Amino acid sequence: MAYDNNFGERKMFQGNWKCAKCGAEITQLPFEPDPARLGQLQCRDCHRKSRDSFRGGNGGGGGRNFR
Ligand SMILES: [Zn+2]
Repeated sequence: MAYDNNFGERKMFQGNWKCAKCGAEITQLPFEPDPARLGQLQCRDCHRKSRDSFRGGNGGGGGRNFR
């Protein structure tokens, strides 16, 4: 809940979805979920985690050290 302060009116979409990763219930999203991607929805926690690990970069594998 860090960024709930400055944006007084942020449109949230209410619904009843499930996180594809941990199975947690998702009742609202900051964006309208694409029906084609309902199976890939992630709760806030998982979303943040995947973003974090994305930045951390643990062996992405570029073919630079090939051999
Ligand atoms: Zn989750």
